Amino acid sequence: MYINGDWSDADSGARFASANPYTGQDWAQMPRAGASDVDRAVQAAHRAFAEGDWPRWTASARGAALVRLAGLITENSDKLAEIEVRDNGKLFAEMSNQCRYMANWYAYYGGLADKVEGSVPPIDKPGVVNMITYEPLGVCALITPWNSPLLLLAWKMAPALAAGNTVVIKPSEYTSASTLELMRLVEQAGIPAGVVNVITGFGTEAGMPLVTHPLVRKIAFTGGEAAGRAINEAAARDFKKVTLELGGKSPNIVFDDADLDAAVPGTISGIFAASGQTCIAGSRLLLQDSIYDEFVDRLTDMTRAAVVGDPMDPATNISPVATKAQHEKILSYIDIAKAEGATCILGGNAAQPEGSGGYFVEPTIFTDVRNDMRIAQEEVFGPVLSILRFHDEDEAVRIGNDTNYGLAAGVWTNDLTRALRMSRRMQAGTVWVNTYRSTSYTTPFGGIKNSGLGRENGMEAIKEYLQPKSIWLAE
Ligand code: NAD
Repeated sequence: MYINGDWSDADSGARFASANPYTGQDWAQMPRAGASDVDRAVQAAHRAFAEGDWPRWTASARGAALVRLAGLITENSDKLAEIEVRDNGKLFAEMSNQCRYMANWYAYYGGLADKVEGSVPPIDKPGVVNMITYEPLGVCALITPWNSPLLLLAWKMAPALAAGNTVVIKPSEYTSASTLELMRLVEQAGIPAGVVNVITGFGTEAGMPLVTHPLVRKIAFTGGEAAGRAINEAAARDFKKVTLELGGKSPNIVFDDADLDAAVPGTISGIFAASGQTCIAGSRLLLQDSIYDEFVDRLTDMTRAAVVGDPMDPATNISPVATKAQHEKILSYIDIAKAEGATCILGGNAAQPEGSGGYFVEPTIFTDVRNDMRIAQEEVFGPVLSILRFHDEDEAVRIGNDTNYGLAAGVWTNDLTRALRMSRRMQAGTVWVNTYRSTSYTTPFGGIKNSGLGRENGMEAIKEYLQPKSIWLAE
């Protein structure tokens, strides 16, 4: 682990193994943190905040350190990507792009650090001036999942540090290695000891003690709904701020006037990229009656051609899912869908490409799905697409919004007024029209309903790590 600028084992000496999803073999050992390790890390972050230099550096100096970190990440992106692939099994091509792109968050928030301005509002009292300044919160807990470990960390760490906070990171127990490797770059960027700390371990043993530690003032979490709810409840008890990015069951809606040459590959990448393990996966495909048969045929043909195999091989389209537990969960959802009466028209089984011992699932497509089935309501987080049929716009909106989630929605149409209407009617934090999956450091991202609280990315997100202070000054 990385605490106060030093590499550290768990106090108990306990470790746990990290497996490579392609081979199914363990490849690394991680310290298994408990409450005393969490306390060491939080105390270090607290000292760095309360007594250290970081919050007292000028905002410009903090920003410059983050820009240096961005440069180091760019230089080391393939190395970081290779570690991520060993841990989560995603395609090297995708992780390499993602790690390079991730550097932008540090450059963007580094640039923003000295542009957060306070204000002097007109005041209704004579002889006084009121100044509003923005101050950092203190120690922030950053808890990340396994699907995009460093990218989703950047969404949190870049604005948290730019604002002058210190952080304790708890990466997923399945993918801790890349976050630890990043700490070498944090050191090289000149970020002082104690400002960034990493503890490795499990959700209940390390994550929850971090959330409930009295010196932690803010929790930024990406992960599943159950953990999100537990964290939100625990944080509420002590009035801590939270940002929660949770799951989704996003509708991808194709109208009969859409450009099918774009919509078919867009749908495929929306659900099958990262073997379906993205929170924004377009896992419910809604097709208008008149194009239903043609679309299903084209989609099935193109998906059937996908190559399932080694994530390091550039020819591979579908790599393993990240964990044995995830593999079992996905296969059980396939069984549930069949038992519910949905028709499996493609895939539906575990796959085992030659030479691998890992966790593969065939890209799977279900038709005859009703929106009240579990396969249409619950997040599978795997390469499983449910197809539903709709007749008109109102029905598409009704089915699309009939979910507890509200992270994203896709709309495919060449009618501009319909595109606008649909964008407004969909209950989701992000709506893509004639595209799917784009996110950017410049653009707010987050969910409504059970998909989460607060927003990451963009100018406003830095305010999630700041609090306003009113200073009254008599003449
Ligand atoms: P998870 O909720 O099991 O774990 C996420 C992190 O939280 C891990 O670091 C884990 O150790 C920790 N954790 C688990 N229980 C905890 C607890 N009680 N207290 C504190 N920490 C705890 O999720 P996962 O399986 O790693 O990730 C998959 C989930 O993440 C999916 O549901 C997916 O939709 C969601 N996700 C959301 C987004 C988004 O931006 N909305 C992005 C990616 C993934």
